[in-house]
Amino acid sequence: MGTDSNNPSASEGELFYSQMFAANRAVEMLIDPADGRIVDANRAAERFYGYTREQLLQMNISAINTLSADQIANEMARARELERDCFHFRHRLANGQIRDVEVHSGPLEVDGRTVLYSIVHDISERVQAEQELRIAETFFNTTSEAITVTDAQNRIIRVNPAFCQITGYSAEEVIGQNPNLLSSGRNSAAFYREMWRSLQRVGRWQGEIWNRRKNGELFPEWLSIVAIRDAQGQVQQYMAIFSDITKRKQDEEKIWLQANYDSLTHLPNRNLFKDRLLQTMESAKRGGQRMALLFVDLDRFKWVNDTLGHAVGDMLLYEVAGRLQNIVRRNDTVARLSGDEFTVILGEVRDHYDVDRIAEKLIQHIAEPYNLEGHQVFTSASVGITLYPNDGDGIEQLLRNADAAMYSAKEAGRNVFRYFTQQMNEEAQRRLMLEAELRQVMARGELEVWYQPIVDAAGVACGAEALLRWPHPQHGFIPPDEFVHLAEEIGLITEIERWVMLTACHDTVGLCEMLGEDFFVTVNISSVQCKSDQCWDVLGSVLEKSGLPAHCLKLEITERAMMENTTQVIELLKGVREIGVGLAIDDFGTGYSSLSYLKQFPINVLKIDRSFVDGLPDDGDDVALVEAIILMSHSLKLQVVAEGVETEAQQQFLRERGCDLYQGYYYAKPLPLEQLKAYLTDKD
Ligand code: C2E
Ligand code: MG
Ligand code: MG
Repeated sequence: MGTDSNNPSASEGELFYSQMFAANRAVEMLIDPADGRIVDANRAAERFYGYTREQLLQMNISAINTLSADQIANEMARARELERDCFHFRHRLANGQIRDVEVHSGPLEVDGRTVLYSIVHDISERVQAEQELRIAETFFNTTSEAITVTDAQNRIIRVNPAFCQITGYSAEEVIGQNPNLLSSGRNSAAFYREMWRSLQRVGRWQGEIWNRRKNGELFPEWLSIVAIRDAQGQVQQYMAIFSDITKRKQDEEKIWLQANYDSLTHLPNRNLFKDRLLQTMESAKRGGQRMALLFVDLDRFKWVNDTLGHAVGDMLLYEVAGRLQNIVRRNDTVARLSGDEFTVILGEVRDHYDVDRIAEKLIQHIAEPYNLEGHQVFTSASVGITLYPNDGDGIEQLLRNADAAMYSAKEAGRNVFRYFTQQMNEEAQRRLMLEAELRQVMARGELEVWYQPIVDAAGVACGAEALLRWPHPQHGFIPPDEFVHLAEEIGLITEIERWVMLTACHDTVGLCEMLGEDFFVTVNISSVQCKSDQCWDVLGSVLEKSGLPAHCLKLEITERAMMENTTQVIELLKGVREIGVGLAIDDFGTGYSSLSYLKQFPINVLKIDRSFVDGLPDDGDDVALVEAIILMSHSLKLQVVAEGVETEAQQQFLRERGCDLYQGYYYAKPLPLEQLKAYLTDKD
């Protein structure tokens, strides 16, 4: 091999090698080991380094090799002495780039002197790939995220240490298994179907999922899965990376609690209160119901804080919160808005009594003494009430209303509740007054029973309805519609009705004697009464005590009361019928029941509600309805009573349709017993 391929003195062999050298695709160079001069370089070397051969022949290898001159000299000496023939160097190209190269180098005798024959391979890409692999491997082994690699059949082929740490499984335990061995059962089948669909469609999925550790504990994780495909697009592996987000969830929950709850009382704060209020308003709107918002402000709280200190003040707030929560129903919300300001949301409010009762109870309970660190502390509450949808339809408006009502409670002397509107306040005042009076009514003997005659088609009175009267010494006649319901609410109705029944039976015995014939009395019983087992005992003892024959007594139950408690009522009423007492369904037509539904009740009289008789004989709807009711009642063998007959025309219409009995102002208003007697003897 020569430095010049055209050298005429070169042998044929040398020429051959020299051409091979020049044309070889591998980068080849001859280097003088004495000083590092480049003695020869082939075309591949020109291409690789970016220098011409001429340039290279002017250069020293130290211009290319990144090692220091001494190091290069050392390495060349080793190559010449055959100590080593493979080196890993970094070579600098003409454009400044540095490449990793593997150099095979050995001594060669050329023209009587020793040169180093070096073949250079560019291994930069391999080195780079190895480096990346090392990085990936380090990451795999040290990351805190768990990594699972599965094959195309979703069998685990590798897991990293974080996986073992999070799940508690060793690698040996899970290799070859399906990752669903971690499944918690908490995510639905549909959830997993959706996950696989996404993996197949877009090659990745991520989301929150619950898994189970080896020790059985469930934990939430944030999981990302990617499908790894080959060049043909076939899935080769899946890689799943997940992190345990238990702590994050706990932190989130803590943050949520802090954002929505009051830290002192653990009640919902203003934030959550508004949410709940909105929800309750919406559900009231959907169900066509009412809800109430109560604003509760403590009286004299500042005084407690100032004289006993903030620690005692805080304790008081905590205690008050507990009392408030004990009073309301489970679905109601008690919240603390600020300082000593609380709110109560009452959903599904049936009527004012519900609200009155809770407000009153709340005021009573808060006013009871508190024992705080040895101090006996007293406070009270002023409560403002607003109703939805009656008083307004937006959150802000309701809050303003309740606040305004609370101020009028303060002005009224504290320790009271006030409704937002004046009218409602007056009504509430009256209800409170009535309640207090009603509790004494029996003891004071203020109630009376009056009788309204019931006449037959010939106009002859054959019975009467017993109606309660309460001539109040200060407030005048209080109508039964107003106090009967209240008496039910406060549990006095049973006692009152027992008295009405006994009085009516006694009076009727007298009437029968006076008339020398049978006369019947009808007595209204409330829904509370017809639900109670006592009804039966009351009836038995009343008949026995008065000596009235059972067939002279009929009980009136409103259609609504019947619909409220079917099975229980049916059983009770069957017993009533068995002893011969009659049963009438009162206010028929107002309860939306059907006659066929009523067939299951053991009734024998039906009273058409006054509101339908009212429109006779001109109102087409009323005419059709009353005609149908009479017709069907007769086919069910029920006697029909028309209530509230006020005119001759109404009487005539009803008579023509075959109505059996009549009751109303046209014949007589409800009368005290003595007047009824006069009425009955006058007519006869
Ligand atoms: P009700 O059982 O439907 O009684 C009939 C009502 O209609 C009575 O009113 C009566 O005075 C009134 N009325 C009768 N005829 C006419 C008329 O021609 N025109 C008009 N405008 N009204 C007429 P009252 O006495 O005010 O009683 C109202 C309701 O109070 C009763 O309706 C009944 O449901 C209830 N009630 C009365 N007494 C008792 C009782 O002792 N126990 C129970 N649970 N409820 C009672
Ligand atoms: Mg009645
Ligand atoms: Mg009626």
